[in-house]
Amino acid sequence: HLPKPGHETAVEPAPMYDAPYYLGSQKLAGKVALITGGDSGIGRAVAVLFAREGADIAIGYLSEDVDAKQTKLAVEAEGRSCILLRGDVSSPAACRKAVARTVKQFGKLDILVNNAAFQVHSADIADLTEAHFDTTLKVNLYGYFHMAKAALAHMGPGAVILNTGSVTGIRGSKELVDYSMTKGGIHAFTRALAANLVDRGIRVNAIAPGPVWTPLNPSDKQAQDVAQFGAKTAMKRPAQPEEIAPAYVFLASSHCSSYISGEILPIIGGY
Ligand code: NAD
Repeated sequence: HLPKPGHETAVEPAPMYDAPYYLGSQKLAGKVALITGGDSGIGRAVAVLFAREGADIAIGYLSEDVDAKQTKLAVEAEGRSCILLRGDVSSPAACRKAVARTVKQFGKLDILVNNAAFQVHSADIADLTEAHFDTTLKVNLYGYFHMAKAALAHMGPGAVILNTGSVTGIRGSKELVDYSMTKGGIHAFTRALAANLVDRGIRVNAIAPGPVWTPLNPSDKQAQDVAQFGAKTAMKRPAQPEEIAPAYVFLASSHCSSYISGEILPIIGGY
């Protein structure tokens, strides 16, 4: 029932600028989502928005329990259930355990959000030790693989995997050589896995944020200037996590994106 080109409706769409996020649309009603790094930053914003859209949530995390508990309360305030799963994504056994506990609790797993990662700045490549390089790969790259493998054992047609990539995986960052490398790897992993899973009816996409104001970035901890952190964007500011999260809903919901798989969506404020 789409209008033919040249026969568009005469009614102009309403301007969307500054439109509030449309509440209560329930685009993920009845779904179960496991979000790694869901205790903080982008992962927390995704958990809360997924819950608002009707999904029950399992939060994978490693950092302080207090952040995870706050996220659980925020999810429950949206009227959905939430379980907390502490474990290190660099361990395949911990990933299998997190998935098993999610399926035991909720009876299924529809959406995996691979989001847990860390970064440490090193101004000089000489400061980048092999040990540190190894850890970055184990968490930021292997962790996504271990979680996907564990989740796929329980996923059927209609399931979705979302990977948090980064603008650094597209453009590189001079102080984040190892991190940029893992993020580029995640983008390639996303495309390859999407192709691999297309016959199973499972979609895989990545979101590649630019600078986002979260505890991940050391500049936050050092109380550095917000404008400086966002200086490379056309908007001259970093994003808030809540400005990134709606894209996860879009790519997780078959109502919105059933014909999108294997894509990398940059959300970078004109970086
Ligand atoms: P964040 O530090 O607020 O959250 C990351 C969370 O990941 C932590 O709270 C921790 O619980 C979890 N985590 C870290 N290591 C883990 C491990 N080994 N096992 C299990 N969990 C672990 O950071 P954020 O900015 O919200 O980052 C979320 C994602 O977004 C990451 O993949 C990051 O690379 C990506 N990203 C962030 C930015 C940014 O500017 N903040 C930009 C682009 C991409």
